[in-house]
Amino acid sequence: MFTIAYQTAKEMDTQTKKEKKKKKQKAKKNGFKKFWKLGVDAYNTQHFDISKDGELVVREGNFQYNIFDIVKKYGSPSEIFFPTMIEDKVRDLIDTFNAFIKIYGYKGKFFYHYPMKVNQNKEFVLPAVAEGANLDISSVNELHLVKRMIEQDKFNTKIRVTCNGPKTDKYLALIEELHAKGMNVIPIIENHHELDALKKFKGPVGIRVNLNIKIKSHWDKKFNYFGFTEDEILKLGKIRNLTILHYHISSQIETLDGLIKPLKRAMGFFATLKEKNSGLDTLDIGGGAAIPYTKKNLYNMKNLVGRIVKTAKTQADRLHLKHPNLIVEWGRFVAAPSQITVYRALAEKNIETKNDKVWYVIDGSFMNDLLDTWAIHQKWHMIPVNSMNTKKLKKVWLAGSSCDSDDKYTAGGDGILLPRLDDVEELYIAVLDTGAYQDALASHHCLLSSPAKLIAAHGEIKIGRKRETAEEVGKEFGW
Ligand SMILES: *Cc1c(COP(=O)(O)O)cnc(C)c1O
Repeated sequence: MFTIAYQTAKEMDTQTKKEKKKKKQKAKKNGFKKFWKLGVDAYNTQHFDISKDGELVVREGNFQYNIFDIVKKYGSPSEIFFPTMIEDKVRDLIDTFNAFIKIYGYKGKFFYHYPMKVNQNKEFVLPAVAEGANLDISSVNELHLVKRMIEQDKFNTKIRVTCNGPKTDKYLALIEELHAKGMNVIPIIENHHELDALKKFKGPVGIRVNLNIKIKSHWDKKFNYFGFTEDEILKLGKIRNLTILHYHISSQIETLDGLIKPLKRAMGFFATLKEKNSGLDTLDIGGGAAIPYTKKNLYNMKNLVGRIVKTAKTQADRLHLKHPNLIVEWGRFVAAPSQITVYRALAEKNIETKNDKVWYVIDGSFMNDLLDTWAIHQKWHMIPVNSMNTKKLKKVWLAGSSCDSDDKYTAGGDGILLPRLDDVEELYIAVLDTGAYQDALASHHCLLSSPAKLIAAHGEIKIGRKRETAEEVGKEFGW
């Protein structure tokens, strides 16, 4: 009060002006934050923000990573992975299931199995396991890695490992070996060959049903060659040591109904199957929970989990069935949001045709690094890494660095808004939600190097995978 009393009118005036300016700046910043859809749970961007200089910031608790500074230091293209985001997701998922199990008085137990195929990088798998995830394996090579962790005494031997995917002789032999060593490996039988091969298997087994139901999703194919049909399974009569009924209907299921309807059907089938298989005690509902890549309002995890537990309870009670244990194998849901891929815009090209297009050429490749762009026309949430606070934007299409006309991203033809290259010294572009599937699908078209992988955890950046040199890439091709 004392100082204010001595301020001149003019000083007070500049002070309020300053405050107003600050407020305005903040409102402006929030405006841009909203524009780029940051800080929004429904977009998985709750940890993303814009610095006062208009640069992309990702927070980990009270720590923050300035993505612009990081890519300037480590170069591009780079993938930046945040393991704590996987930890949070797995913990949240398990806690939410257990909370609803309590709320609804459900008697079965819940198990989360991380489907290793979604991302097999050690940096992805270990945080999930450390938070209590079990594993779902899709091949002998994935199971081999589990074996190694067990042998090194790093995994609790109680970890539950469901084994999906077609079983080669090697795969079957490894399952037998790990079972003999006292591990909880559960083969999920997919066909008659596996049924025969596992006739003498002493441990518990699961069976995969191809439910007689259709849902809307990209992967809902006319023909599904996974698992047995419902009729086929019923014809098998008693199946030795059967404990798990498994289905995996699709990925990126964008409606609640698409996840609840199969569950209802499966509960009915479970009851029938249990008549001859009294040891059947677990329903594994597979993967499928969706990521809001560019769409908002899919459903939130709480809603989804609540509906699942409630449906399982209602159906089981209606069928006079002991509440089965529940397994989910959501992969994309857990892994996708934890990684971003950053490219630099190298050049601008104006292609004059009937509908003029402006292209930015990036220093990486969609076909190589984000293969789903090409394979399934994946739409990504893309944002600039710097100059996020400019209103001067341009609608552009993006071209990858390979010499392939399919190496492009157009957001389904709509184009994406980015700062104008003329106005900035350099421009980096971040693709969000790239943690699922892209790594194992990655390739070397035109012998381009894969992006470096940076791991951002506990406030530090570590290099998970160095940027490949020309020599290293050549070596992979026998040079
Ligand atoms: C791929 C796969 C999953 C994971 O699917 P998401 O859609 O990523 O959740 C789970 N279970 C099985 C058997 C799979 O093949």
